[in-house]
Amino acid sequence: MSGAFDDLLAANRRFAENFALSGFDGVAHAGVAIVTCMDSRIDPLRLVGLEPGDAKIFRNPGGRVTDAALEALVLGVHLLNVERVLVVPHTRCAMATNTEEELRARVAESTGTDVSWHRFHVIDDQVAALGEDVRRVRTHPLVPDRVAVGGFLYDVDTGLLTQHL
Ligand SMILES: [Zn+2]
Repeated sequence: MSGAFDDLLAANRRFAENFALSGFDGVAHAGVAIVTCMDSRIDPLRLVGLEPGDAKIFRNPGGRVTDAALEALVLGVHLLNVERVLVVPHTRCAMATNTEEELRARVAESTGTDVSWHRFHVIDDQVAALGEDVRRVRTHPLVPDRVAVGGFLYDVDTGLLTQHL
């Protein structure tokens, strides 16, 4: 284990030399929360012109509004200045382009063990799932009507965000 993180710790020391966020509060200064995929092609802040301090970011495979995402959004809306919520799945997402069986087969190949017991929550219809997810936020009893909730698709090849809802 020792050594595995050396490059990152060295980079962190350089980062801390010019650290400008000291004493900064934890609210979302632009009033924005973004739920998006863990995909490394997505830079959720910069793709909407924001910077650290501006937004709450919640990520998971597929960018789904899970119970944990709702928990984060309720806290964001009531305690952290969130007024706008963007739900942002993306094109060429592994969660939407593989079936459950395909993902299991790929992970099984990597682990060399049976993974049939594990569920990956693949997405059959990305636009339908987005509608469901936006509705989950909008109709949540602890998310007031003053909060704007939008559903978008991010194109990882063009960098463009398209609003669907
Ligand atoms: Zn994805």
